Amino acid sequence: MRLRNKPWASEKIGQYPHYVVPNPEECKGKWNEVFQNENPLHIEVGTGKGQFLLGMAKQNPHINYIGIEVYESVIVSALDRLIEAELPNFKLLNVNAEELEKYFTKNDVERVYLNFSDPWPKKRHAKRRLTYKSFLQSYENILVDEGEIHFKTDNQGLFEFSLMSFSEYGLLLKFLSLDLHKSDFEGNIMTEYEEKFSQKGQRIYRCEVKYRESL
Ligand code: SAM
Repeated sequence: MRLRNKPWASEKIGQYPHYVVPNPEECKGKWNEVFQNENPLHIEVGTGKGQFLLGMAKQNPHINYIGIEVYESVIVSALDRLIEAELPNFKLLNVNAEELEKYFTKNDVERVYLNFSDPWPKKRHAKRRLTYKSFLQSYENILVDEGEIHFKTDNQGLFEFSLMSFSEYGLLLKFLSLDLHKSDFEGNIMTEYEEKFSQKGQRIYRCEVKYRESL
């Protein structure tokens, strides 16, 4: 993603603590208090400008959503959308996904969405891929038993790597499409990257995987 310098982003983010949670480590294990309901929590890691979660939050008012994005200059666009939409079930965290366990504990999250994650094509950067085994471990540490990861990408190499990584970790495959837009999958909400790549004629890969019940 090309990053534009937005020196005002930090100040703007600070003005909306109701939408971009300012001290997320204090909310660990207490997200239901933050949302003031007992609804399940779904998170998107690497949410970008927030188009996907905004659509999901509108479509599913009975589910709480948190978008996680490391760059202020990017998350501020998601914040603009959220300010306009005024959704009570959508919040943002301006943090690095490498530290998810600082903000969430076991059973806090029911589902993790990964959409068009950075592919990090060089082998020596494999550990940075959001489907690398260390990330799968940290998702497991914050998810409910049998929690799920839903993953979409246009990048065949990343998809192949991720399927292998899911399999080696022991995750169960629930859904697989090698061409999402030509499949019979219903209710797809497009991300910004999905719109861009599918307009260029690129196929979209999608899968859903589930953690095994802990014994
Ligand atoms: N999900 C959006 C979409 O599909 O349009 C954005 C995709 S973009 C290629 C990937 C996003 O993930 C970027 O905004 C990037 O800053 C964010 N990201 C990458 N690594 C991250 C990390 N470790 N923690 C939080 N965000 C991350």
